[in-house]
Amino acid sequence: MDPKRKLAEVARRLRRAYGTPPSPGGDPLDILIKTILSQNTTDLNRDRAYQSLREEFPSWEEVLAAPEEELARAIRRAGLHRQRAARIKAVLAKIKEEQGRLSLDFLAGLSDEEAERWLLALPGVGKKTAYIVLLFGLRRPRFPVDTHVARVTRRLGLFSRGEPHRALAPLVPPGKELELHLNLIRLGREVCRPRRPRCPECPLVDLCAWAKEGR
Ligand code: SF4
Repeated sequence: MDPKRKLAEVARRLRRAYGTPPSPGGDPLDILIKTILSQNTTDLNRDRAYQSLREEFPSWEEVLAAPEEELARAIRRAGLHRQRAARIKAVLAKIKEEQGRLSLDFLAGLSDEEAERWLLALPGVGKKTAYIVLLFGLRRPRFPVDTHVARVTRRLGLFSRGEPHRALAPLVPPGKELELHLNLIRLGREVCRPRRPRCPECPLVDLCAWAKEGR
């Protein structure tokens, strides 16, 4: 099966197995900062760090003005807190410098490509983070590839090498980016786990290159 048809079939089967997941949304800048806190940590620690940050510094202006050590202390639950504090401040400083205010609402007035370019120019912001902001915060057709999505799609044989965002973007059924992203993450957490994937109970087993090879 060609990869485009295969991913469309994956999307259909996952919808049948998991339904249409509730779509998270929110303010694009909140999503950006939360995503910076989410890298290489658990959802629980990310949420605790984010909550503690917002409790100590209720506005992004206060976060920008805060000494880096205080910021790092507030987000220590996420780990790598000094690096993350520096990164959050650098991102906020750049937004303020370019836009005169701490908001990403202006992105709604840009084309998908312009908004993507703008986010990717922020310090330390890569494709995954930019695409999460675009998809979740602005409902733009972008397909973020996190560790679960990369693992599952690689095992399925949808790509083998190269940059996964570039490899997968042309295969994603239009309009299904959000649902497919969330359902692949769920499959990756519950079934296609990093170690000992539960292939016999996977709804994609007959489509999967990894399972066919008997690995
Ligand atoms: S069949 Fe196994 S390896 Fe393939 S996607 Fe399902 S759980 Fe992952």
